Amino acid sequence: RPPPSDALFATLEKAAGYYRHELMNTARGKDYFKSRGITGETAVAFGLGYAPDAWDSILKLLGSSDAERARLLQVGLIIERDNRSGHYDRFRDRVMFPIRDARGRTIGFGGRVLDKGEPKYMNSPETELFHKGRELYGLYEARQATRTLSRLLIVEGYMDVVRLHQAGITYAVATLGTATTPEHLARVFRICNEVTFCFDGDRAGRAAAWKALENSLSQVREGRQIRFLFLPEGHDPDSLVGAEGREAFEARIKQALPLSEYFIQQLSSQVDTRTIDGRARLGELARPLLERIPTGIFRELLTDEVAKVVGLKRDHISLVAGTPVSGVE
Ligand code: ATP
Ligand code: MN
Ligand code: MN
Ligand code: MN
Repeated sequence: RPPPSDALFATLEKAAGYYRHELMNTARGKDYFKSRGITGETAVAFGLGYAPDAWDSILKLLGSSDAERARLLQVGLIIERDNRSGHYDRFRDRVMFPIRDARGRTIGFGGRVLDKGEPKYMNSPETELFHKGRELYGLYEARQATRTLSRLLIVEGYMDVVRLHQAGITYAVATLGTATTPEHLARVFRICNEVTFCFDGDRAGRAAAWKALENSLSQVREGRQIRFLFLPEGHDPDSLVGAEGREAFEARIKQALPLSEYFIQQLSSQVDTRTIDGRARLGELARPLLERIPTGIFRELLTDEVAKVVGLKRDHISLVAGTPVSGVE
């Protein structure tokens, strides 16, 4: 007997097909993507779609029996009415981004409003098949473009991935409206050794970058390259690659800040390194972070660097950072 998840995958695939079809046949969805510079070819590569402006389009199409409605509910495509007497479509009048697993099976959707409206993006809820803290939007499409991925660019949004891909930067993936989790990072480094984080040029993006650094420290290994690309204020990868094109954007990627430099820069900016209090604070801030890095040359060197800024002898900072120095226990 096929596993019960097969029927759920089938439901999601039918829904994705329906949304794709609606995109082809409604000017509203097509015009929206056109206005954002998305070509038909890109829409096909990502299986983009449009969910019509109705309360029951998916429900009518795929929910005629109790068993079918139960599946639609399980995959998050319909929602139970508050009074419990019926259901309605979750996604209405939104452009649709199917979220696919590594094998290309649709496991959920992101949907964006076309005009103003809240929430701007709506995702499928957590389901048996869809775990936001684990999935990377665009990974399947990146693999389709390059069989063996040697690097990944981690961005924030659906449109960033899609637009970068269209510009020829096919190794971009996005977390799904959540911060980068340790699970994401473990996954990313199982795929490749060269990772660049590139979040929006705004306060939220900078906070997300620091969070990504904190979660990356345990992933530091010899041969791995972790870097951070900061964009001009107000830009995100979508807007910037649109404004300046692939080559300029890839030049930025090449010049992205190594983790070590971002680490020192960020910590130094939080304190006044001209004062003893400030330098002491920097040491205190650095200590728990340095401890997350696996023991090895990188941790030693970064500890040295912190020691330099703080103005302590290396051994002292090592003790501060909890690294047992040979001969000193
Ligand atoms: P666009 O360019 O279409 O306006 P964006 O990707 O630049 O969208 P941001 O506001 O920068 O939008 O958000 C980044 C990402 O965070 C989105 O792509 C989406 O995945 C997620 N996101 C944003 N708002 C929400 C929300 N209200 N609920 C869930 N996820 C959201
Ligand atoms: Mn943003
Ligand atoms: Mn953005
Ligand atoms: Mn954007």
